[in-house]
Amino acid sequence: MGSSTQHEPPDPPSDPWARLDAFLRTDPRDAGCDETMEMLDVYAELLASGHHPSERFPGLRAHLLACGPCSENLEGLLAAITDEPPSGPSTS
Ligand SMILES: [Zn+2]
Repeated sequence: MGSSTQHEPPDPPSDPWARLDAFLRTDPRDAGCDETMEMLDVYAELLASGHHPSERFPGLRAHLLACGPCSENLEGLLAAITDEPPSGPSTS
């Protein structure tokens, strides 16, 4: 495509437009990583038992939609909850 490969430096974090953009992309209800991590096991247990924790924890839901690592943690917790615990050491 481009004959001249010019690498433009990424926007400095102090760029007010970049900061505004990041702000607009952040859900104001976003609970943040810390709070999400604290409540994640409760959230996962509610989900696993057929409840709708997103109604009770809209901030967590907003964060899980926006934060990849946290949603991955939730999936891991859910898998751990819904999976039957091994009855013994499984050697293959
Ligand atoms: Zn997070």
